[in-house]
Amino acid sequence: MLERTFQLSAHGTTVRTELLAGLTTFLTMAYIIFVNPDILAAAGMPKDAVFVATCLAAELGSLIMGLYANYPIALAPGMGLNAYFAFAVVQGMGYTWQMALGAVFLSGALLWGYYWRRLLRTREFYADARAAALVGDAGVIPRAILMHKLAVSMARAAPAGQEGGFGWRLRAWGNRLHSGLVLRLPEARLLRQRLAWSPPDDERRACLADPLVALGSERTIAVSAGVAVVLLDLVQRGALTAQHIAEPAAYVPMLAGFAVFAMWTLPRVCAGQTLRGGLWRSLLLILAWFTAIKLLPYVGDLFAGTLMMITDPAGWGRAIDLWVYSMTGSLGPDLPAMVGAAVSWAQILEWHVLRPMAFFALLMPPALFLCLAADLALKERVLSWYALGGRVREVFWMISGGVALILALLVIPLLDRVLFSYVYQTWSFWEVVGMIFVIVLGLAGAVAFGLADRRWGKRCSHCGRQVDAEFRPGLHCPAPGCHQPLHGWLAASY
Ligand SMILES: [Zn+2]
Repeated sequence: MLERTFQLSAHGTTVRTELLAGLTTFLTMAYIIFVNPDILAAAGMPKDAVFVATCLAAELGSLIMGLYANYPIALAPGMGLNAYFAFAVVQGMGYTWQMALGAVFLSGALLWGYYWRRLLRTREFYADARAAALVGDAGVIPRAILMHKLAVSMARAAPAGQEGGFGWRLRAWGNRLHSGLVLRLPEARLLRQRLAWSPPDDERRACLADPLVALGSERTIAVSAGVAVVLLDLVQRGALTAQHIAEPAAYVPMLAGFAVFAMWTLPRVCAGQTLRGGLWRSLLLILAWFTAIKLLPYVGDLFAGTLMMITDPAGWGRAIDLWVYSMTGSLGPDLPAMVGAAVSWAQILEWHVLRPMAFFALLMPPALFLCLAADLALKERVLSWYALGGRVREVFWMISGGVALILALLVIPLLDRVLFSYVYQTWSFWEVVGMIFVIVLGLAGAVAFGLADRRWGKRCSHCGRQVDAEFRPGLHCPAPGCHQPLHGWLAASY
């Protein structure tokens, strides 16, 4: 089993080597468990809580690295940055440790943004792949795009000038580039490789055979999204805004999950897969994985909380109090006072572990599924707006943005009130405004969608005639004398 899971012999190693290496690695880095709390305590953070957090963070990171990525790399909180955090930022510059952790959170969010850009990039993959399927050569697309970009930037950079002058020649070069005269210049190829933010040709070709190449399988995307959401949740609630975020802070997992999965379905919809054609099964699969990962921290809470109930709660100390507090968030500064006092552990378990678990297991998956299905159904329809041209991308964004707004301003608040009535007893002014806004927006959006569908739906972009065909890859206009490809806009959706 070990052999099958970790492919030991393929990596030229044995169980004994791995165990020895693991032990060595552990002994080498175990000092962090004691040094990190000491250093961060100098910033004013509670030492015992940092101790537990250090162990958990190292364990979680190393487990994911080993079990999921199958790399022999151990992860732990970085030494050096923690000293910068404690001595430079907090003691030196005089910020509170909460503010400093806020900065750490923001830098994490920037990384998340980078990851996001990688996801967005995949849309280009697929647009290219489809366009290449039309043209018959995947290499054509990046070359054409490079030439176009170069030509445009040269024309923009060129100052207006007399014929034969520098500006004039630059423009002329731009035009020659655009017409493809220097297409085969090795410099152009090198430049393209240097500037490439877009994927290389072979990856683009691979997209043709399998739309999943771009984003990975159902499991890959669900595990990536789930782990990112759980970590984001922990950082956000534990460090920055515990007092301000009400249980169960469903916004991050539901909105981030929706956004990632909506992005993931796009290439599949463009490939002609539909909800009726079985795409709903993929959605269920990724939602199941996502939910399972989202529940993991609560399983940990449940375990720790039960242990605390059957042993002496006071003996466990503030460390685990603060851990549960950072995991679940909402009691804010009252928790230490409430532990063992007015509120029993059983009640804390119910409010902050069991009910959130029920929320994420029972209410989140169907809500996300319905939103994703609505998002998909609308996008499927838009694929038949042949006359719309290259602006389909903006319409896709509007659809996903609108559904996300409905999720954030209407669905999540309503669901919160089903299970968390002890937190949300009344509606605030802004919640009511948000609901009215999203209802008006939804109605206006429906009318606008209907009108647009009448105007652009199933109309050939070349001859303007009505085409009685749903979108599928390779569809051509059936009108006599036209026969133009009907989804050429996929090539232009940059
Ligand atoms: Zn036509």
